[in-house]
Amino acid sequence: MTAPDWGYVAERAAAWLYPRRCPFCDALLGPDAVQGTFCSSCKEEEERLSHRPPRLPDTEHHFYALHSALAAYYYADAVREAILLCKRGYHPWYARELADRMAVRIWGAAPAPGPGMRPKNELLLDMPLYHCIVPVPPHQPMPGVPGLPMLLARRLGILWKIPVETPLYVVRGTQAQKELDRAGRMQNARKAYACRTDADLGGKRVLLVDDIITTGATVSACALALLKAGAVDVTAAAIAADEELPKEKRTSTENEK
Ligand SMILES: [Zn+2]
Repeated sequence: MTAPDWGYVAERAAAWLYPRRCPFCDALLGPDAVQGTFCSSCKEEEERLSHRPPRLPDTEHHFYALHSALAAYYYADAVREAILLCKRGYHPWYARELADRMAVRIWGAAPAPGPGMRPKNELLLDMPLYHCIVPVPPHQPMPGVPGLPMLLARRLGILWKIPVETPLYVVRGTQAQKELDRAGRMQNARKAYACRTDADLGGKRVLLVDDIITTGATVSACALALLKAGAVDVTAAAIAADEELPKEKRTSTENEK
């Protein structure tokens, strides 16, 4: 007999005490929740904003040092709202559902059978072979509050039973990315991240996790630092990519603009 997974038991109990909510509209998730992670009213919106295929095109971003970059959604509308609510710390619990959406949308994991349950990777034929998950470190960390990339990394680590490591740090004296334009971001980011000297990444395939991929400057710079520290391969993944929505995915009001 295998030992019970106490983490999972505690998770189910917590989901029963504190019911899970739809990250896209905050509705309580009942038994009719879609894939255990969002409500049936958000089904069309979730589909509309999905980024398929999840691999991000080089035409929209400027990547270097990365094997590839992946995202589950476009950074727009309900997805944007969910991420902002998570990031500002009001609704950090959405991170679990959003990480589960990443597992399903990006890597094709079998969806959770119900709210508070986990997507299953055992069924994955093309199981990702990462040795560890590394979150992009926050520029302005809030004491005691893990950033959204860390929350996503932890959840994906639980789903795939691979360790979360934090070798990256922000080099002091660099500006926050959001204060800069595109060219400034590339320049600034290149020197903004480094790995701690005691980081042991030798020979590792790393999954780098961020919440949003905008220009690609941040994830590329982090990947470069990880490669310098000995990683052999870095793939970046995010909930959403900030790209122009394809025409067929725009709402009618957006098309009129
Ligand atoms: Zn909803």
